[in-house]
Amino acid sequence: MKQRTATTGARSTRLLMPRAPLASQLADTERQRRLDILQAEMRACRRCVAAGFLPRADSVAGYRGRIGDRLMLVGQAPGHLSVTRGIPFSGPGGAILDRWLQRAGFAPGALHREVYISALTKCDPGKSARGNGDRKPSPAEVALCQPFLLRELELVCPRAIALVGGMAIEAFLGPARLEDMVGTAVERNGVVLLPLPHPSGVSRWLNDPAHQALLERGLQLLAGLRERWAADAATLEAEK
Ligand code: SF4
Repeated sequence: MKQRTATTGARSTRLLMPRAPLASQLADTERQRRLDILQAEMRACRRCVAAGFLPRADSVAGYRGRIGDRLMLVGQAPGHLSVTRGIPFSGPGGAILDRWLQRAGFAPGALHREVYISALTKCDPGKSARGNGDRKPSPAEVALCQPFLLRELELVCPRAIALVGGMAIEAFLGPARLEDMVGTAVERNGVVLLPLPHPSGVSRWLNDPAHQALLERGLQLLAGLRERWAADAATLEAEK
């Protein structure tokens, strides 16, 4: 069977994981206080409007996310529906992601209850000029927004990051074919990076059964992480 080749693109700047997350340096209350301030800052940001990239800055940055969220999800950018509803991944893509999490052993609804949802850019980039889905933020927009993501990573200190879609995968791991990344996991500065395809209905990558098998392998890796976190939590509880 001929596999559809999808690359993660090769246009954006590689994002470097923070080497010294703040979990070991700050009390939890101070870390959460700084995260609350950062989330307010992201929601108020208008840098892309000032730079002429966006007509308006619509953000759902920091939706319910808090320190202690073990799993962070980094997508491309919020879409129009997410901004209208004030909830990231609130459309069909979010429902698919939640089902993927369930396949990894999470409870239904975990996506919007347990996961810190972030993105390369925090505002809706608008529709693609070709009319087939959302516009991809440009490398300049990603670079403008990247300091926010780095600060989120430092403060939240997730144990794993699900990289959802080619742009997010490339930002952390460099350009590569989706089929070489999905189903693998790598550790960077103590954080597991787990590449996943984008759940968007526009993508046909998952139509290939071989790609579905890669997704299943990735979800099993996530299931293993979730089990390890549950065991760690049980040990901590027993030691109290
Ligand atoms: S995408 Fe990021 S940098 Fe641009 S306006 Fe929104 S929050 Fe600010």
